[in-house]
Amino acid sequence: MSDVRNVIIIGSGPAGYTAALYTARASLEPLVFEGSVTAGGALMNTTEVENFPGFQDGIMGPELMDQMRAQSERFGAELVPDDVTAVDLTGEIKTVTDSEGTVHRAKTVIITTGSQHRKLNLPNEDELSGRGVSYCATCDGFFFREQDIAVIGGGDTAMEEATFLSRFAKSVTVVHRRDTLRASKAMQERAFADPKISFAWDSEVKEIHSADGKLSSLTLADTKTGETKELAVSGLFVAIGHDPRTELFKDVLALDEEGYLTVDSPSTRTNIPGVFAAGDVVDHTYRQAITAAGTGCSAALDAERFLAALT
Ligand code: FAD
Repeated sequence: MSDVRNVIIIGSGPAGYTAALYTARASLEPLVFEGSVTAGGALMNTTEVENFPGFQDGIMGPELMDQMRAQSERFGAELVPDDVTAVDLTGEIKTVTDSEGTVHRAKTVIITTGSQHRKLNLPNEDELSGRGVSYCATCDGFFFREQDIAVIGGGDTAMEEATFLSRFAKSVTVVHRRDTLRASKAMQERAFADPKISFAWDSEVKEIHSADGKLSSLTLADTKTGETKELAVSGLFVAIGHDPRTELFKDVLALDEEGYLTVDSPSTRTNIPGVFAAGDVVDHTYRQAITAAGTGCSAALDAERFLAALT
């Protein structure tokens, strides 16, 4: 059994590394579980990030995350590229178990495990991510000025993305499996009234095609007749939802109806004293690197104040 740490951070995206930086600079010697597969978080899977302040010419996602990682390490954060497999958060001393079964103890835990966007699960989807296939209009819309693009989904997010993208795009085709939308009436009306947005009803994406390593077209199949047709697009925005990574916490921490951790906003306090949460595991509204980093900072300050009150 290890010594009792001040703080353990679970997750290594912008929220986790920012919490690590702040707690390290506060001399709290954080232990950070980065995850074994995607240390660095969601931005490790993208190309250029143009909207993280401070990088006038943009920065590649993995490079941004390497910088955040190195910055937190410089101040003494201990980073472990491993997964947390179990937690016990209920007592004054929390325990966190790693993949080898070693139990780590801490007075506070900051959860920054992020969320996973749902994929279409088509063969070359991952390969074309960042090369025409995107999961975030706010992040990537600007790259598709005057281009033909498709948005997949029928909920509020899909309508919001389509409406947002129509500002830049030449045309936006919403591809939806049914003949009615799940989105709220107001969102639907806004999309229907937009002259750049059209709808491919009762349709699903069967294949994604590329030319010169970039997305070039989609094969759509009619969900009723099975008939197929080609849609030439250079952008494909998949807006079929996200799954927060809260499996480990679902029996102890309060979750909302979509499975996200709930916090005593504007703080990052969860329903258990000494446990804080930040980034996309909490946020289903903004989902940006800068907002994740912002709440990661808040979680570090909340943990610091909690620890100060213990002494
Ligand atoms: P994440 O970045 O998701 O990181 C969570 C981390 O926790 C992961 O490393 C994961 O492995 C780890 N983890 C999970 N469970 C465990 C566990 N049990 N043990 C240990 N570790 C664990 N935002 C922008 O602002 N600009 C952009 O241009 C932009 N582009 C994007 C492009 C793509 C393709 C995607 C997917 C997202 C993009 N985003 C962009 C959104 C941005 O990446 C997220 O909002 C941000 O990364 C969320 O940060 P986070 O720290 O909350 O979680």
